[in-house]
Amino acid sequence: MIQLIDSFGRKIEYLRVSVTDRCDFRCFYCIPKGFKGFIESDNRLTLEEFVRLIRIFSELGVSKFRLTGGEPLVRKDIADMVQQIAVLPGVDDLSMSTNASHLAEHAEVLKKAGVSRINVSLDTLKPDVFREITQSELQPVLDGLMAAKKAGLHPIKINMVVMKDLNVDEIGNMVDFCLEHGFTLRFIETMPVGTAGQDAVDRYVSLDAIWKDLEQRFEMEPARMTGAGPAKYLKLVGKRLKIGFITPISQHFCEDCNRVRLSSEGTLYLCLGQQDKLEFRPLLRQGLTDEELKAAISEAIQRKPEKHEFNDNPDQVGRVMSVTGG
Ligand code: SAM
Ligand code: SF4
Repeated sequence: MIQLIDSFGRKIEYLRVSVTDRCDFRCFYCIPKGFKGFIESDNRLTLEEFVRLIRIFSELGVSKFRLTGGEPLVRKDIADMVQQIAVLPGVDDLSMSTNASHLAEHAEVLKKAGVSRINVSLDTLKPDVFREITQSELQPVLDGLMAAKKAGLHPIKINMVVMKDLNVDEIGNMVDFCLEHGFTLRFIETMPVGTAGQDAVDRYVSLDAIWKDLEQRFEMEPARMTGAGPAKYLKLVGKRLKIGFITPISQHFCEDCNRVRLSSEGTLYLCLGQQDKLEFRPLLRQGLTDEELKAAISEAIQRKPEKHEFNDNPDQVGRVMSVTGG
C-alpha cells in the first residue's frame, strides 16, 4: 500500500484544505484589521482542481480530510464540493471547521453529503465579547450549532481560543453549555501565525493552568477521542463531556505530526509554523499528469520540517491564518 512517510518517519495521512481564505468574521487573532490581501479569484483553485488534488492525495494513502478556511460555508459551491469529495474511494474521514454563522442553512446538506464531524469556533457565550472578538453576532452561531445537533452531525467539537482578560473567566460556563448540548469542548492556545496572531500573543494563556484548575474543580479522568490529533483529552467522571487541550506553545506535539495543509491558491504548506511549501497551481495549469503530481508530493513531503518554532522565532510566519486554516 502506498504511504507518504516524511524524513522523520512520520506517516502523513491528513490533509487540511483551506477552501477559501475569505471569511464573514474578523477574529482579531486571525485576520489583521483592515486586511485587503485576500487571494485573487484567478489565483484560486477551481472546484475541479481541488477535487483532483484531494483524489490524488487519497491515492497516496491520505485518508483524512478537513475543509477549513477562512470560512468554508461562505463558498456558494460548498455543498457540491463536499458531495464530490465524500464519494472519493480513499476518503475515510471528511470533516469541517466552521464559524457556524451559516451552519443553520447547511447542516442537513453536510450530514447527507457525508461530513462526519464538525469543529465550531466559539470563544465566548457573551454577545458583547463575541462582537469584540469577531466583529460579528453570536446568535446565528448558536442557531447553527442547534441545527447541526438536530441534523445529527456528531461529534460537534467547540474550539475555544482561551485569552487573558477576555474569556478565561468563561471556562465554567462553556463547560456547562457543552455538557447540556453533548458537545466536546477544546481549548486552544493563541499561536503567532500572521501579524494578527503575533499581535494576539499578549492574550496568551498556558493551558497547563486551566487543566490543573479543572482537575481541582471536577472529578476528571483521561479520555480518548476519535480523530483526536494533537489534543489531549480529559473526561468528567460519570458524564459524557470530553475536554480537549491543544497546546502548540506550552507543549508542542510536532513529533506526532501527521498533516499538511493546502491553501485555496493551491499551495501545500508542510508545517503551520514554517514557510516550506509546494506550489501546485502552476503545476496543475501546466498540465502535469497525476503521476507527475504524485512524484512532486512525495518529494515535498521529504522536506516537511521537524517542528514549528513558535517559541524561538515567533515572527517567522507572515501569512494570515485563514490561508492555511489552522
Ligand atoms: N472559520 C473557521 C473557524 O473559525 O473555525 C475555520 C478556519 S479558523 C482559521 C480555524 C481555527 O483556527 C479556529 O478554531 C480559530 O479559532 C483558530 N485560530 C485562528 N487564528 C488563531 C491563532 N492566532 N491562534 C490560535 N488559533 C487560531
Ligand atoms: Fe474567520 Fe475562522 Fe479566522 Fe475567525 S478564526 S476570522 S471565523 S477564519
